[in-house]
Amino acid sequence: MKNLLDHMEDVLLMGPGPSCVHEAVYKAMATRSIGHMDFYFIEIMDEIKALLMKTLNTQNRLTVPVSGTGSAGMETCFVNLIEPGDRVLVLINGVFGKRMEDVAGRLGAQVETLEFEWGTPVIPDKVAEKLKGERFKIVSVVHAETSTGVESPVEEIGKIVTQHGALYLVDTVTSLGGIPVEADRWGVDALYSGSQKCLSCPPGIAPVTFSDRAVEAIGARKSKVPNWYLDMNMVIQYWDGANRVYHHTAPINMLYAFYQSLLLIHEEGLMSIFNRHRNAHDRLVAGLEKMGLQMLVAPEYRLPMLNAVKVPGDIDEAAVRVALRKTHKIEIGAGLGPLAGKIWRIGVMGHTARVENVDRLLSALKTELGG
Ligand SMILES: *Cc1c(COP(=O)(O)O)cnc(C)c1O
Repeated sequence: MKNLLDHMEDVLLMGPGPSCVHEAVYKAMATRSIGHMDFYFIEIMDEIKALLMKTLNTQNRLTVPVSGTGSAGMETCFVNLIEPGDRVLVLINGVFGKRMEDVAGRLGAQVETLEFEWGTPVIPDKVAEKLKGERFKIVSVVHAETSTGVESPVEEIGKIVTQHGALYLVDTVTSLGGIPVEADRWGVDALYSGSQKCLSCPPGIAPVTFSDRAVEAIGARKSKVPNWYLDMNMVIQYWDGANRVYHHTAPINMLYAFYQSLLLIHEEGLMSIFNRHRNAHDRLVAGLEKMGLQMLVAPEYRLPMLNAVKVPGDIDEAAVRVALRKTHKIEIGAGLGPLAGKIWRIGVMGHTARVENVDRLLSALKTELGG
């Protein structure tokens, strides 16, 4: 039988995720499987939880890796907190805010949105204005909008939301592991992320955390959480306490990989990792600008790990991406929604965020653009 995996190329992943995976993480994935109720596996689970709490800067007891990708993390946060008719305010400045609106709406929430121009951040004053005299149960925002490369001021927004008394729900899929994420200090009540962006693990795990206030809100529900698989009341009985209760079979080898990724992160140290992202970003932007290319986002709002670059008018953007992939073995991303065809999205996420990778891309891009 032919096996396509025999011909897998080593592609430098510089798109919006997945990012490059460290050899140690691939090796961890190939570790022998054991039972999901095995005492040794439960020890690994406890270590994962502790490392995750450290990564998120939280003391929340309800901090677990959900079996699924970042979107499963999004769904987990909303499905546990929303009951039909609840008022939810979604702050939107790109694709992933839009996805939150869709998810919350499907759960029967009364969703309102506050939209900001794509390529710009959420403006805290506008949020304060919108909340004045209103009562929302949840306010949600994306920290790092991967569709545009913009960072929103989640700490400032958190102060406003806390004052209002709503639960504060934050998407940190792209930010976690690339720039500081401080769940407790920001007053975050529910947060999700994903394994394949700056955590540099393959896709398949979504860290989530819920504050005590959020746990209380889940406990005070009048109706059952409508999604069995993501119901934190049950999931936590497997992840916490002396007597672990089977819920669903944990993705054992995926969790080995996730564990190893977190170990690598804390061996290197978050601060040096943030600097590594910043250095790679600075080098990339300088190189792109030297080639006459322009960034979509104003410097003060730019994310280091996701760089939106304007495609020059006379260039076939898809042809350049295909050439980078086929000739140079480098993946970069396309624009989404209203930005499709207008930008490239270049990721310097996690293990990928190294100046040598940036230099390789710049040189390949120069060749393809005829520079
Ligand atoms: C990638 C991403 C998601 C979705 O994660 P998946 O792993 O693709 O399901 C959600 N939010 C943001 C900001 C993302 O970048």
